[in-house]
Amino acid sequence: MGRLTRLPALVLVSLILPVEGAAQRPRTLEPLDATGRVTYFIAEGEPGSTYRPSDRELAVWALEAWAGSTDGALRFEPAPEAEALVRVYWVPADAGTYGEMRPLLATGRRGAAVYIRPDTGALGSQMAELARTDLLVRDTVVYLTCVHELGHALGLEHTADVRDIMYFFGYGGDIPAFFNRYRMRLTRRADIRGLSGLSAGDVSRVRALYRPN
Ligand SMILES: [Zn+2]
Repeated sequence: MGRLTRLPALVLVSLILPVEGAAQRPRTLEPLDATGRVTYFIAEGEPGSTYRPSDRELAVWALEAWAGSTDGALRFEPAPEAEALVRVYWVPADAGTYGEMRPLLATGRRGAAVYIRPDTGALGSQMAELARTDLLVRDTVVYLTCVHELGHALGLEHTADVRDIMYFFGYGGDIPAFFNRYRMRLTRRADIRGLSGLSAGDVSRVRALYRPN
């Protein structure tokens, strides 16, 4: 926090926009595993997180979205929490943030913890109201947040292109429009599984990191 106090502009942005924690930006673009085999663990929701048991499925679909874009170069396998390279946690809302990735060491290897805040109230009153009245909006936000944060876990950085799932709201843009663009393509929840949310740019970047041998 000491460093941030010398950067008042950044503090201001984080108060206005639902940006992520500062710890989520990877320094270098490297695959989590050179062979593309990535172990994962999905936790139960923490009390107060507004987690629904079906959210676990959204996280699995988000993993499938990334894996499915690499022609088999990237493969996810479930593992116990202490061994998993990628760990997903559902946590209570935190002012101004909706998701976060933090690097971790998993039995001596570089891994990532992903924190998802299913309470859409953190995205502002307009999004909170939409999510309350339309469960597909709520699930869209949770799903796309999973895809975005898992993208960071896999080694991807933010982009400034609003078509990308790795787009960063700090560049501006209409947050409800971003999520509604996806939601409007759904007629039922199961449609999420067939609609990755990845842009051509997202796909080319993940394929550059995870190439078929
Ligand atoms: Zn991000």
